[in-house]
Amino acid sequence: MTRNPLTPVAANASTQALRSTAGHRPSRSEAEEAVRVLLRWAGEDTSREGLRDTPKRVVKAYEEFFRGYDQDPVELLSRTFEEVDGYDEMVLLRDIDFESHCEHHMVPIIGKAHVAYLPDRRVVGISKLARVVDAYAKRLQIQERLTAQIAGAIDEVLKPRGVAVMVSSQHHCMTTRGVHKHGTQMVTSCMVGAFRDDPQLRREFQMMIGMPV
Ligand SMILES: [Zn+2]
Repeated sequence: MTRNPLTPVAANASTQALRSTAGHRPSRSEAEEAVRVLLRWAGEDTSREGLRDTPKRVVKAYEEFFRGYDQDPVELLSRTFEEVDGYDEMVLLRDIDFESHCEHHMVPIIGKAHVAYLPDRRVVGISKLARVVDAYAKRLQIQERLTAQIAGAIDEVLKPRGVAVMVSSQHHCMTTRGVHKHGTQMVTSCMVGAFRDDPQLRREFQMMIGMPV
């Protein structure tokens, strides 16, 4: 899968595109009404006790699922440290759990991301790497774009010698509907700079995340 690495996406471009739609944001009660419509469409009686607060709860859950739209990954990464005392080897954060939603069916994508970079003077607090994953995951996504956006933001802000991102996940649109294939994992990767050009470095990354090479 590393043969066709994804192209990293400029982090700012996506943020700007999202902001341009912000002016047409429906109100909370309109969103709750939309949930009622879907419930009625599914055959439910929205006045019954158990469903009375469901639209409220669904809208609240959506706030959590999609809170990434209010986060700017570039800003998250912008506090970097330059005192690295000559450290120039790979920095890797592996097994970062994430929950996202596919933009085609709005059902969960549950998976793990592994993020590495080869610093060039600047490093960042490692929790920031996990936050960047979340900022992009908590949006409607396709896994290919999620992978490229994470790599793009790190590349843009830290300007490292290389970035490697690997994402593996289960798509609930494939397990709970459609082809109903449980246990299948979708794996995507995005290699930038030295990770793209140097097979030895790429193998090192794959070994460190426990992938057979
Ligand atoms: Zn889907």
